[in-house]
Order: sequence, then C-alpha cells, then structure tokens
Amino acid sequence: MSEMRAMRLHAANQPLRLERVPMPEPGPGEVRVRVLACGVCRTDLHVVDGELEHPRLPLVPGHEIVGEVDALGEGVSGLETGPETGLETGLERGQRVGVPWLGWTCGVCEPCRAGRENLCERAEFTGYTRDGGYAEYCVADARYCFALGVEDARAAAPLLCAGLIGYRTWRLAGGDEPRRLGLYGFGAAAHILAQLAHSRGQILYAFTRPGDREAQAFARRLGAAWVGGSDEVPPEPLDAALLFAPVGELVPIALSHVRPGGTVVSGGIHMSDIPSFPYRLLWQERSVRSVANLTRRDGEEFLALAPQVPIRTETVAYPLEDANRALDDLRAGRLSGAVVLVP
Ligand SMILES: [Zn+2]
Ligand SMILES: [Zn+2]
Repeated sequence: MSEMRAMRLHAANQPLRLERVPMPEPGPGEVRVRVLACGVCRTDLHVVDGELEHPRLPLVPGHEIVGEVDALGEGVSGLETGPETGLETGLERGQRVGVPWLGWTCGVCEPCRAGRENLCERAEFTGYTRDGGYAEYCVADARYCFALGVEDARAAAPLLCAGLIGYRTWRLAGGDEPRRLGLYGFGAAAHILAQLAHSRGQILYAFTRPGDREAQAFARRLGAAWVGGSDEVPPEPLDAALLFAPVGELVPIALSHVRPGGTVVSGGIHMSDIPSFPYRLLWQERSVRSVANLTRRDGEEFLALAPQVPIRTETVAYPLEDANRALDDLRAGRLSGAVVLVP
C-alpha cells in the first residue's frame, strides 16, 4: 500500500478534508505507526480555529495517538537507552506505542539542558508543526514515543494529552499535597485527573459551566465531593485550583476561591484574555501559573500511575472521516469525557 487516508487542514477556519495522501516514510530515528485511535483534544480546536498560529499546512492534526509500530527508520532497533534522558528509546515492529504532543526537542538549548524540554526553543509538536494522528498512519521520532501495554487503544488515547497535561498541571499545583482541590472545566483532562486525585484522598470541587447538570453529575460520579457552576462559591477555601477551561474569566474567580498561599494553575495552551482584577485576590502569597507542553518524564510517570489507580477513561468514538463532526461537538461542549477518532 503506498497511500493512506488522512483528514487534513489546509487553512484555519476551514473544515478538514478527507484525502488520499502518500504513505509517510520514517526518516532516521523515526518510526511509522499504524494509528489505532487518536484522541481529539481542545488544542486541535485551537489549531483548526486559528487561535494557535503558524501550523504546518496542509496539516494532519491529532496528538493523542495510540498505534502499532509498523516500520522502523534507520537507526531504530531493539531497546536502547537514550543518553540525555535515560529513557528507553528503541522500538520494535508490532509494538504498541503512544505518540504525544511533544514530537521533538533539540537537546542543546538552555531549557533542554536544564531538563525543561517542554520549553525547548525549537520544539516540534505532533499535529501542529508535524503531521499527527487524524490518519491511518503517522511518523514519529522514536525517542518521543511511549511504549504502552496492549490495553484498549480507544481508552488509552486520551491519556496521551488530556492525561499527561492534567498530570503536569496537578504536579505543578503540588501533586497530592493540596487537600482541597478545585477543578474548573470538567472535560477530558479533569475526568482523568479526578480519578488520580480521588485515589490520593484529595477532596475535589468541580466547577462546570453554570447549569451544566450533565457535567456536574459526571464529576460527582468520578469522585467530586462538591459540584457547582463557575458562578458558585465553594463551601470551603481551596488549597489549589486547576483550570482546564480556556476561559480567562476563571483566573480571578479561581483566585477568589483559594486560601492564602494557594495556587492557581492553568493547564490550557490557549485562553481568552484574563480580565483585570484587584490586587487583593493575588495578595497573601497566592500564585497563578501556566503549564506548557510536557516532558517525557511526565509521560513515563503518568503512564505508570494510570493502571495503578486504575484510571478508566470515558470516550465517545467517531470514525476518522467524521473528524469535523467530532471537533464541532467538542467546540459546542456537547460531550462528557473524551473524544476519540478511530481509522
Ligand atoms: Zn531545546
Ligand atoms: Zn492536547
């Protein structure tokens, strides 16, 4: 077979097109992956809607890829240990892998050398600056793939971004240290993270769009002790607040909910403008920070934790050719859980 089907973006704000394109060939250090499932992330919406600028065009979006290694590029064989990270980098044909958002880093810039490869100055991103997984096959740098067990591909796909970014957001807010944890926006990331946090005994406060009873029932089912709209005030001050909705208004709201010394962490790659707010909301050593991308270390840690919890994702599957409908449904907030495309 020398061609494959892919959903491609040709310009921002236009629907993806189902196309037959040449089968991608893995270059040195790369593998070709037969896609079994690819999650649809809010970041894909930001790319398609032109809120993240300068994607590669035409582009195959998608960065929550679970697949099977189908072909090895030059220099990829067996299991080896990478010099910089100590992570296993070799892959074998037939092996189940996950391909995440972080597609490549330079390894030599200052952030890379300091162990902050998520901030690499020349980083490349799957489904943004490299072709991603809205296709039958994709190519990925072997060093940035995660070896997975043979679990359900559909269920595993959302772990690759919603899971990893949620985990990094949680980690930067203090991990399991905060006792009272607020989750703002109860979609793919929060529904995964809630299970981890609940298993650690943290008390969860889930904030949804005002009146979204379905999301609130979903949050309660996954362990939230309190649920409410973002216009409601939690019964106790929170130790930390994690923002997963791309809504700038939530920053001052969350600050008003956290105790002195508390932290607000935003997990999204894009957010609407944050309105100005009085200094007293930040006063008393409260802090606000963002999360950018992921490191391979985050992936290794989180993917090892997920089966221990165990985290069960709730997914809604669409055929590959229905990617536009999947994006529309995500945009409209019509879904609980995570959206997954299946070629
Ligand atoms: Zn770098
Ligand atoms: Zn994502």
